[in-house]
Amino acid sequence: MLDISTDSARPSPLDVLKRVYGYDAFRSRQEEVVGHVTAGGDAVVLFPTGAGKSLCFQIPALCRDGVGIVISPLIALMRDQVEALKQLGVRAAALNSSLTREEFFSVRNAMRTGDLDLLYVTPERIVTDGFAELAADARIALFAIDEAHCVSQWGHDFRPEYRALGVLGERYPGVPRIALTATADPHTRQDIIERLGLGGAKVFTTSFDRPNISYEIAERDQARQQLLRFLSRHKGESGIVYCLSRAKVEDTADWLNAQGIRALPYHAGFDRAVREANQDAFLKEENLCLVATVAFGMGIDKPDVRYVAHLDLPGSVEAYYQETGRAGRDGLPSEVWMAYGMADVVQRRRMIDEGGAADEVKRIERAKLTALLAICETAGCRRKAILAHFGEAHPGHCGNCDTCRNPVETWDGTEAAIKALAAVYRTGERFGAAHVIDVLVGAANEKTERFGHTSMPVFGAGKDIAPRVWQSIFRQLLAMGLVSVDHAAYGALKLEPEARAVFRHERQVFFRKDRPQAGRKAKAGGSPAARERSNLSGSDRELFELLRAERLAIAKELDVPPYVVFPDTTLIALAKERPRDREELLDIPGIGLSKRDRFGDAFLAVIEAFAG
Ligand code: ADP
Ligand code: ZN
Repeated sequence: MLDISTDSARPSPLDVLKRVYGYDAFRSRQEEVVGHVTAGGDAVVLFPTGAGKSLCFQIPALCRDGVGIVISPLIALMRDQVEALKQLGVRAAALNSSLTREEFFSVRNAMRTGDLDLLYVTPERIVTDGFAELAADARIALFAIDEAHCVSQWGHDFRPEYRALGVLGERYPGVPRIALTATADPHTRQDIIERLGLGGAKVFTTSFDRPNISYEIAERDQARQQLLRFLSRHKGESGIVYCLSRAKVEDTADWLNAQGIRALPYHAGFDRAVREANQDAFLKEENLCLVATVAFGMGIDKPDVRYVAHLDLPGSVEAYYQETGRAGRDGLPSEVWMAYGMADVVQRRRMIDEGGAADEVKRIERAKLTALLAICETAGCRRKAILAHFGEAHPGHCGNCDTCRNPVETWDGTEAAIKALAAVYRTGERFGAAHVIDVLVGAANEKTERFGHTSMPVFGAGKDIAPRVWQSIFRQLLAMGLVSVDHAAYGALKLEPEARAVFRHERQVFFRKDRPQAGRKAKAGGSPAARERSNLSGSDRELFELLRAERLAIAKELDVPPYVVFPDTTLIALAKERPRDREELLDIPGIGLSKRDRFGDAFLAVIEAFAG
């Protein structure tokens, strides 16, 4: 147990929250989880990224006797987590193969004597005899299974080693277990409960809404120029750009550097050393664009990721939400943006069809793709559509997504839909959208002539509508599930049974009116987060920049990411409140006893010199 309490032997969770973390109040359901686990209960915690899951196991570990064991899938990130805890005055260590013999023995000793609060371990290690020996003469406060969705094959981060964690309950009876994830879908949730033997655990969920994240999905036009416009709103900030392929990751990073934007690539094809170096740079620098495949991101707890861009369509709404969710953990305004087009749909469909999965899984994957398209093509609030996918009702009109900011008009496109579907049908359901559109607009070319399509009644039947609009129509027909892409037939469009009702005039079809995307330019004052900082008055803002420089200097010296010293939210509060002494420092959110003692004087000196 951490020795932070002066008047009672066992600190209360609220004491720990205040003294160690420097926060006054728990957020939403944190307090319930902490109370339940501290009292010895098992828990499954399904909170979105940034909700504060770490405290849900760290505080019970500090309040209970013994050491809390944290199972986390990524060795590379354990070091930073342990470092962040040490700055808070928490006695933490990580058990991994890079430990020297001496370090290992010192961990073992600390566990025996009760001088360790938290120990991070990989899932493969925890089920070994070596760990059992280590645990035999230590008191264990709890097991926390972080990124618990890794146990499920439904998710995109499946780790077979997680399956073995089911034995923890039998092997260590009476020790509470808490599994945590930001993945909400019901399959994954069920898998976590079953595979980890947590049938008796209390399940805690909160809203999955991330109100500080602004959503935007654009029709791909000239992707790089669109990306550049998006990034121009985020000068001086860090973010992630996701691409589907390794080659595209490298090309995009090169191109961004040539445009004067500092970018580093990340994908699973690089050596471990390169991956770790680039990840480390991303964590430690304050102005870096990381261009990556989905191999990057799990477990990254950098709180000030200010933007996430997708240059390709993600695999599912779940994946999209996880990836975009890496923005804005600190609660400050952040933006996510995606460009997509018909080619993505065909490509994704090919990946599913050519993948080795069982037919049943392929069917589900296709349904997931359609669900994502529906969000891309919605004329309503994106946030509402996304949350609805997770079974959560939201009134819409969030005011913080592209469709809310620029309401999309819809038009009755029943006649156009009938023409489109007829063109698919008449040409034998054997052609992709590009060819079907050629037929609709009456483009006489080698292919339309060779197949005899120029003499069909549908040839030119849609020439009153521009090809570009037809593309949008076909994307929307896909999103509505009226047509599908058949990869086995080279991306040919096929009619779905629901199309029949449209032919019979039993179903009306409304389309969104796509506007050419001019793209929002950088606003005066820069990005939303920069504007929030600039909500600081002129002199507070100046002070903020000085505090930021001080933070960077300290972080460099300690070789830790700047947010390990203090998050931006703490710097903003320091700039506004301008505490004068060590006592007043404790009123600033994010400053507990240990950080006050470590960094307080340096920041007080900056404030004093500024106020001078
Ligand atoms: P998650 O693991 O759920 O993504 P984290 O545990 O990383 O979220 O917490 C996100 C951020 O919120 C961290 O910077 C953390 O210090 C902060 N935080 C967590 N709980 C509180 C709280 N009760 N009050 C203020 N800040 C909090
Ligand atoms: Zn909205």
